[in-house]
Formats: sequence, C-alpha cells, structure tokens
Amino acid sequence: MNVKEKDNKFIASSYARFPVTLVSGEGALVYDDCGKEYIDLGAGIAVNTFGYSDKKWVEAVTQQISKLSHTSNLYYTEPGAMLAEVLCEKTGFKKVFFSNSGAEANECAIKAARKYSHDKYGDGRYAIVTLINSFHGRTVTTLAATGQDVFHKDFNPFTGGFIYAKANDIEDTIGKIKENNACAVMVELIQGEGGVMALDKEYVSALYDYCQQNDVLFVCDEVQTGNGRSGKLYAYMNYGIMPDIISTAKGLGGGLPIGATLLGEKVEGTYTPGTHGSTFGGNPVCCAAALSVIERLDDTFFKSVKNKSKYVFDALEGAKGVKSVSGMGLMIGIETERPAAEVIAKCREKGVLVLSAKTKVRLLPPLNIEEKQLEKAIDILKEVLGK
Ligand code: PLP
Repeated sequence: MNVKEKDNKFIASSYARFPVTLVSGEGALVYDDCGKEYIDLGAGIAVNTFGYSDKKWVEAVTQQISKLSHTSNLYYTEPGAMLAEVLCEKTGFKKVFFSNSGAEANECAIKAARKYSHDKYGDGRYAIVTLINSFHGRTVTTLAATGQDVFHKDFNPFTGGFIYAKANDIEDTIGKIKENNACAVMVELIQGEGGVMALDKEYVSALYDYCQQNDVLFVCDEVQTGNGRSGKLYAYMNYGIMPDIISTAKGLGGGLPIGATLLGEKVEGTYTPGTHGSTFGGNPVCCAAALSVIERLDDTFFKSVKNKSKYVFDALEGAKGVKSVSGMGLMIGIETERPAAEVIAKCREKGVLVLSAKTKVRLLPPLNIEEKQLEKAIDILKEVLGK
C-alpha cells in the first residue's frame, strides 16, 4: 500500500484530504512525493509562521529536544517561564496557561471566565455569549461555543450555557448578555473559518465598553488571528481594547502544538492549584519553538506583513473573477465568481496551495513569505480566478 492507501485504510475518516502527499518544505515552498513544488499560501492553516524548516526555529527545537524534551508540570522548566514572560511583556497580560491546541486554549478561557464569575457572584452567572458564524474548536464544549448550527448535531448533549448573538449587532449582543445574565462574551475579532470577516470597530468598541462597565469578561479567541497574522501581535491591538482573556495557538508554535490562554488583571488569580492542568501543556520543546517565533515578531516585521497584505488586497480587489476581498493582514478571504473548490484545485495543479473558508478562497501564507513568491502565487491565483 502506498501512503494514500494506508492513510485511507488506517486513519479515522474525519478528513477529506486533497490528493497530495507532502514530504518536505523550505520557507513558503513545499514538495510532494513526486517532487512537484508548490507555493504554500495556507501555512498548515496559519501555523507555519516562518514557513517550513525555518533555521532559527529548527535550531531552537533541536537544542531543546536534545537537552530536555518533556517533564511534568510538577517541576519548573526554563522555556515555559521565558515564553510566558515574553508574552506578558509584549501584551500586558498577567499570567499564561499553556495547553496543546486552540480548542484547549478556549476551554481554559471558558473555565476561567466561569470560575471568575462563580468565585465572585456564586451560582447562576455562567452563560457565555458568542457570535453567530464563529468557530471555536472541536471539543464538545468548544463546538457548543461555536455559533454555527451545522456543528450542533451528532454529538448531543453539548455543554450548555452558550448563547449566540448577531455579529456587528450591538443591541442583539447586549440584549443576549442581559437576558442570560452572562459572565463573558467570546469573539473572534476576525472570524476565520466563518469566512474571514473582521468585526466592525464601532461594534467591538461599544461591546467592550459595555462589558467593562458590567463586569462581563471580554474574551478574544486569537487562535487564528494571533501571533502577527493580523499585522499586529494580536488582533485586539488593532481595535484599541484590552481584553480580559485571550486564547491563542496555531502560529504561536510555528509548527509544533501549543496553545496559550493569557489572563488579564481581573482573572490572573482565578486558577488555583488543582483547578486546571495539562500533561503536555508547557512542554519545553513546544515552548522553545514558540519563543523563537514570538521573539521575532516586532514592529519592523509587522510592517512587512502589512506591506504584503496591501499588495494582495491591491492585486485582488477589482480583479477579474473576484467579487470581494475581506480580512486583515495576511488573513485574507476572497469571494470568487468560480466555486472555491474549483479555484483551489486549479491553483494546486499550477503549483499554488490555497484554502477555503465557507464559500470563499482563503489565504494564510507564512508571514515571512518572500515578496517574489507571493507575487508569483498571486499572479497564478488571478489567472485561475479570471478564467
Ligand atoms: N478557534 C479558532 C478561531 C480557530 O480557527 C480554530 C481552528 O481552526 C480553533 C479555535 C481550534 O483550534 P485547534 O484546531 O488547534 O483545536
């Protein structure tokens, strides 16, 4: 059996894979088992912040793995402490909890919000308002948090206490908070899986003010938007707000699994020994990898992300076959005249890997993609879109 046959036979059938076996990569380029080269505008769905086989990242990982690959959270280790310090210093958050994925980072945020409220107000104030069309993960609780009916089947009963409000509708959102005595709102500032839609600034600002005034925690799911993707370190920094909690994962580890939940002043003391935990959370190799990513995300780097973003928006807005372009930084959605699946297949044939988000084509390139590679990939994409 070849790889595809073995995979189809032995791996649970939860993925509809593209007919490609990837074997190696460097920067934004990746190669399949026939030696075909692709420019990857997906970066493992916003994970490979510095592309494949990035030298500094490989060095950080290999150094740490040969020293101490894993121990338990019963002991102190250096990479986790250093990563938490850098994250807090760069954001103003007070404490970090490490996990292994976006869904777990959200679980931690949800538990923190509920415990904060329970500690302060007692029973009954546990509801969390999320937004229609959001995506927060695949566990039973984060599926419940996800504001899309399509995810609310097959696995009943889901975790209760999640209420869905209309994005960009301040009356509806505040109404839902009041009606349900909510302890928190949780939002993706740029909805990713839902179609790459940035929330309106006035809406976010009004919702944030209401939450501040009413001790309703403002939680941002920065799993996809975080770690430089939006053109700033975290997407909330584009909105002039300081959330109480953010969750992040994906690009943080640059290719190794790590989730992080950043806790602000109000909730920094919410978790006490025994109230949350994770065997692999804070794994030294994953933390060393993340540190090598986060340390390089500075203003000069963000400027280059913004320039590349502008290039893509300018190239695609008004181009043949393009209805609209949405998103922020290097998180870009394209509403196309041709069906997205057709565009994705044609691009792949021509050596460019792109993603979908609902009915849109989605671009999430490595943030350090070379300008020439980006230009070449966008030329190919435009050619496919215009046909
Ligand atoms: N939250 C958002 C906004 C996401 O985009 C995703 C994954 O796509 C998740 C949570 C879940 O992350 P993970 O697949 O790492 O559990």
